[in-house]
Amino acid sequence: MRDALLLWDIDGTLTRSSGAGLHALETALRLELGVTASLADIDYSGRTDRWILRQIFAKFGFAADDAAFTRYLDAYIRALPASLVTHQSHVLPGVSEALERVHTHDRWAQALLTGNVERGARVKLAHHDLARYFPFGAFADDSELRNDLGPVALRRARDFHGVDFPAHRVIVIGDTPHDIACGRIIGAQTVAVATGLHSLAELQSHQPTAAFASLADPGFAALLNAL
Ligand SMILES: [Mg+2]
Repeated sequence: MRDALLLWDIDGTLTRSSGAGLHALETALRLELGVTASLADIDYSGRTDRWILRQIFAKFGFAADDAAFTRYLDAYIRALPASLVTHQSHVLPGVSEALERVHTHDRWAQALLTGNVERGARVKLAHHDLARYFPFGAFADDSELRNDLGPVALRRARDFHGVDFPAHRVIVIGDTPHDIACGRIIGAQTVAVATGLHSLAELQSHQPTAAFASLADPGFAALLNAL
């Protein structure tokens, strides 16, 4: 029976694409809404795609209804594969080993807890052949607020594996203070990794269970050993 669960953020945690998502959002803005502009001023780190879309629509004065969001997201998803290539998206150190280790362990499970919409998450992970590790997850489709996504991930984990994972045996892994906050809300352990936009010292100031410069740090493997 599986009794420990790892919940993974994507951007800055599993992969780093140095602006590929932002570029795809700007491409969608141009092609779908006819606006050529930089979106670099949007506070997107650790936010959900739907939250980001709401900021973009507000910035340019577009009505933020579901149909418009869907059309914009469609254009974003179409632009994403090329952006991942041109922005040299890559898998971060220690990630492949950790995912394979959890995947082959008979008592551990893993899933996504990400601000991406599910379609975007699947495109980003499939680009690196990582989608196969994640049969389910919680996504921006579930809520605009990241803090809502932990309970959704736990519910899906229970449905998929048929067990309630005790909170102290759930680990939320991410690269921003928002990931730490959303893990803390569900009583999980939190692992912060400084491979995104936030420094190790900044992440440590938010008091995660552990913080590492990268997931290749032996401390991360040791933390898993202690599960
Ligand atoms: Mg992230």
